[in-house]
Amino acid sequence: MNKTIEIQITKSPVSKLAETDFDNLAFGHTLSDHLFVADYAQGEWQNPRIEPYAPLSLNPANATLHYGQSVFEGLKAYKNEAGQVLVFRPDANLRRLNESAKRMCIPELPEELFMEGLARLLEIDREWVPSKPGCSLYIRPFIFATDDFLGIRPSQKYKFMILTSPVGHYYSKPVAVKVETQYSRAIEGGTGFAKAAGNYAGSLYPALTGQKQGYDQLLWTDGKTHQYIEESGTMNVMFVINGVLITAPTTTGTILKGITRDSVLILAREMNMPVEERFLSVGELQESLEKGTLQEAFGTGTAATVAHIRLINVNGKDFELPQKPTDAFSNRVLQKLDAIKYGKEEDFRGWVYRY
Ligand SMILES: *Cc1c(COP(=O)(O)O)cnc(C)c1O
Repeated sequence: MNKTIEIQITKSPVSKLAETDFDNLAFGHTLSDHLFVADYAQGEWQNPRIEPYAPLSLNPANATLHYGQSVFEGLKAYKNEAGQVLVFRPDANLRRLNESAKRMCIPELPEELFMEGLARLLEIDREWVPSKPGCSLYIRPFIFATDDFLGIRPSQKYKFMILTSPVGHYYSKPVAVKVETQYSRAIEGGTGFAKAAGNYAGSLYPALTGQKQGYDQLLWTDGKTHQYIEESGTMNVMFVINGVLITAPTTTGTILKGITRDSVLILAREMNMPVEERFLSVGELQESLEKGTLQEAFGTGTAATVAHIRLINVNGKDFELPQKPTDAFSNRVLQKLDAIKYGKEEDFRGWVYRY
C-alpha cells in the first residue's frame, strides 16, 4: 500500500455485543456495532469514516431503488487460536468489486480505501469476530448510486459501505439441485460475471419455482442453448467424473469468478488432481449419472466453502449421487481450505491477511 488515508471515527455509545447470542446466529440477521462509509462526489471518493450502524435516510427518487445501479462483495474474517483476526484473500474481493463496478458504470475504489477501511473496521469491531471453531464474521462491502433523479443515466454520486455480521458454524446439508433449462441467469455480453444487485433479483423467481418442486438450488445452463452447465445461484459448481475435476471456464462473462473456485482449483493442482476447466454438457452429465462415473458434485462459495450435492435433476429425472467417502476430493480440499483460513496451516500462498 503506497498511500494512507485519514478515517474519521465515531464510536457507538452502546454496544450490542452483550445482548448478542453467539451460540444462535442465523445468517445475516445480526449486524455488528459499526460500519465503514465513503462517499463519491465531484469525481472522487471522499470522507471515509466509521460510524455506528444505523438506518439510512433515502430520497424516494434514489437511483438504486429504481434502476439497481449497485454491486456487492462477500468475504469472511476468522479468529485463530492466538486471537488474531484473519481474512481470506480480500485483495481478490477488491479486484472483483472493481470489475463489477466498471460493468455497472460505478466508479472504481482505490485500493487503500478498501483495504484500510476494512482494517480499521475490523480493529474497532474485533470483538464481533467469533472465536468458536467454525464460526466467522461475514463481511459485506457494497457500492450503490445515490443520485436523486428519475432519469436513466449513471449516477454522479455513490456510497461505499462495509457491513459485518457474525455467522455461526455453516454446516451445509448436502443439497438437491435441478438443471435449469427454461430460465437464464446470464447471457454472453450481459452482467453474469458481475456481483451486481439485479442479477440476484432476476434469479429469485426461477429459484423459488425450483424450491416448490423440491430442489434447494438450480444449476444454471448457458442462456443461449441451455445445453451447458454454468453455475449455481451463489456458488460455482464442480464435478468429479472418472477422477477428473471438471468446472466451467469463466471466459464467457456469464459466470461469477468465485474466489473459492479459484482457490479450489489451485489446491487441486497442488494435490495432483487432474483438472479440466471446460463446459460440461447436460448430456454428458446425464450420461455420467446413468453410468455411475460421476463420483462427486459440489458447489464452491464463501458461505459454505464446499456444499455437497446429493441429488441432481436432469431433464426431469432425479439422480441420487453416491455418499462421499471422507477421503473424497471435496472433503479433502474443504479440510485444507479451512485449515488455511483459520491459520492452522502455513500460508505460503499469501492468501491470509492478519489484523
Ligand atoms: C459470490 C458468488 C459465487 C462465489 O464466489 P466466492 O468468491 O467463492 O464466494 C459464485 N457464483 C455467484 C453467482 C456468486 O454470486
